[in-house]
Amino acid sequence: MESQTIIQYIASGKKTFSLEFFPPKSEKAIQQLQASSSELSKLDPDFVSITYGAGGSTRKSTFTYAEQLKADHGYKVMPHLTCVGHSKNELSEIIQQYQDAGFKTLMALRGDPQGDSQTFTPHPDGFQYANELVAFIKSTFPNFEIGVGGYPEKHPEAPSQESDIRNLKKKCDAGADFITTQLFYNNEHYFRFVDHCRSANIDCPIIPGLMIPTNLERVERFCNFCQAELPDSLKSALASAQGDAQALQAIGVDWTFQQVKDLLEQGAPGIHLYIMNQSKFMLALSEKLKEADINFHS
Ligand code: FAD
Repeated sequence: MESQTIIQYIASGKKTFSLEFFPPKSEKAIQQLQASSSELSKLDPDFVSITYGAGGSTRKSTFTYAEQLKADHGYKVMPHLTCVGHSKNELSEIIQQYQDAGFKTLMALRGDPQGDSQTFTPHPDGFQYANELVAFIKSTFPNFEIGVGGYPEKHPEAPSQESDIRNLKKKCDAGADFITTQLFYNNEHYFRFVDHCRSANIDCPIIPGLMIPTNLERVERFCNFCQAELPDSLKSALASAQGDAQALQAIGVDWTFQQVKDLLEQGAPGIHLYIMNQSKFMLALSEKLKEADINFHS
């Protein structure tokens, strides 16, 4: 899909399959990223993304690993960028660097509040909301395709789903080309969210983001942080398999398999997997999808 943008690919009727990496911080984590990105290249994802760390802390490393993922494995890479701690000039420098290096798509985000604060404080010469970053990229670097975040169970700071969707519409009106969702473990939230978006005249593709649930503690932490539902049946299955790595893998992979199957059958434009730089569970999921003849590239 090198010549096609993500949007063109989806418009051609194909379902995207994408993976999310994060920039590693320790020597061990670097090796893990290298090993997993190498192993996962055989799955031939349509694109991969690489996150941007809190407070601009990974400005350099997001770029470095975006380049590395592209050069080492030929991945089409979508780097993330947040508004946190950056002036407009700094953001412009960063985006220019990506443009010069040949990247075509960016995920534009506001970022989370810093430290213990519950409130996001923008840089005095920066942006308060992601829609402003989207508008900035579109006006200064119009050739970039732009992804934005969406929240099937609403963003934790939003007073209501309605207001969150109104704000999501601002990102689309500012020029966002597609939406990738926060993780969810109950597909009903995604389907309702898509319906609400369509009623609000949000027309762009909404790619569901999923994480394979193989570790109860981690799943609870993420669900807590994102305020996502952790279904009782998943929670009790993971709890009853504590300490049994094989059983946990089987439960998590099967849960995500069922989610993917249902999402694709009901028209989702693709699937984005939050893999936490690990390949094992993703490879097992891919096997299961293959056995069920579920193919992304057709
Ligand atoms: P926004 O769209 O700006 O929304 C933030 C809040 O403000 C929402 O409650 C919204 O309803 C409200 N709002 C938005 N616009 C307006 C407006 N114009 N007026 C009034 N209210 C408004 N974080 C990272 O640090 N690095 C990453 O790499 C990263 N990747 C992510 C990838 C995906 C797919 C997703 C879904 C999230 C990611 N995040 C990442 C987390 C994200 O930064 C946080 O969820 C953050 O709190 C909100 O970012 P946003 O871009 O959705 O913000």
